[in-house]
Amino acid sequence: MNAARYHRRQILGLGLGALAGCAVNPVTGERQLMLIDRGSEINLDREQSPHQFSADFGRVQEPALNDYINRVGMELARISDRPDMPYSFRAVNASHLNAYAFPGGSIAVTRGMLLELDNEAELAALLGHEIVHVAARHTAQRMTQQSLSSLVLTGVGQVVARQNPDYAALARDLGGLAQGALLARYSREDERQSDRLGLEYMVEAGHNPEGMVGLMEILRGQRQNQPGLVQQMFSTHPMGEQRYRTAVAAVRQYSESVRSRARHRERFREATASVRALRPAIEKLQAAHAALAAEKTGAAQTLAREAVRRAPDDYTAQVVLGTTLLAREQLQPALNRFRTAMELYPDEPRAHHLAGATLLQMDQPGAALERFRRYQKLLPGNPAMTFMTGYCHERLGNRQPAAEHYYQYLQSVQQGPQAQHARRRLVAWGVIQQG
Ligand SMILES: [Zn+2]
Repeated sequence: MNAARYHRRQILGLGLGALAGCAVNPVTGERQLMLIDRGSEINLDREQSPHQFSADFGRVQEPALNDYINRVGMELARISDRPDMPYSFRAVNASHLNAYAFPGGSIAVTRGMLLELDNEAELAALLGHEIVHVAARHTAQRMTQQSLSSLVLTGVGQVVARQNPDYAALARDLGGLAQGALLARYSREDERQSDRLGLEYMVEAGHNPEGMVGLMEILRGQRQNQPGLVQQMFSTHPMGEQRYRTAVAAVRQYSESVRSRARHRERFREATASVRALRPAIEKLQAAHAALAAEKTGAAQTLAREAVRRAPDDYTAQVVLGTTLLAREQLQPALNRFRTAMELYPDEPRAHHLAGATLLQMDQPGAALERFRRYQKLLPGNPAMTFMTGYCHERLGNRQPAAEHYYQYLQSVQQGPQAQHARRRLVAWGVIQQG
């Protein structure tokens, strides 16, 4: 590098650095413009990842399974190019196929994905890939400071803002298919880098690189056979034939001895046995979600009921059945399902939210308010709950707290049916001027 160019870079680096953080990429060693620094990556992760985990029906309630996934993940994270991030790994209860990473290192894999994996080497390939998204700061590059308003569950707004709420749309939103708003969308180049480096990490950690081929075959097969199930995974991790071929070619470069390492199938199957035991129920839930997405609420309800019959103690199955009941305006049966779900998994906030929305429909704003308060205790930081709290107060005739919550809501969300409603009330009550 010549002196002038170096000087220019220094100036550029310093100048931009003061504004936006020009950082050295831990993977490439190149300086690059980062809109958010390490501290912000970690903060963003802490703020947002719990909302995504809840949208995925919470982490699985089996500590041994989470511990296993965390152990496999941490072995890879430690040898990554950015080992000093606060990585953590868990399984979440969603039925579709996905795995994702938040910029501070919070990484999750769904039950639907675990069902497809055959051995620990494939799990390592998946987690290694996600770790690179953190280590190479892909997420930080893609993620703008997305406000939590994108998380606002619009379905609840429809309940409030419309005379005749669109229950099918409500159920679709609350059913989890509108999730993923908080996840970064990676470029194909990001994916290529994650595949390549993830493979290096897993081999260095002692895994058999053939696990990467297994993973790629799962993704390719799913994409061809059941595109709906993995839609989200491919919107966040684009997959193409070229990506598959590149990854397979990279694996073939390793020696015969490396490629004949153990894949730890037994260990993996033992750790994930509880998920496989639920396969019949999870497959019904996958079909129920597809039916909800197509607005076939009757079929969705039948499928969800079959899932509950197969797994009556499964939180996710109860929530999905409740959602399909809500979609068909069967309010009391829906509420019963959400109550069962709350008993099965008291700390998971989503059932509280759904119960609150249902109670509002049943003209019970006082009981609804309790549910929304509980939600906010369990998972603070969702503006939708601020709105719903205000709305319950309004329905109860408590104008002062209603106004306070609406005002607070408008500080974080300015658009959409809820914001319109809040603004109209505040103007009508003389709290703010018509603007
Ligand atoms: Zn990816």
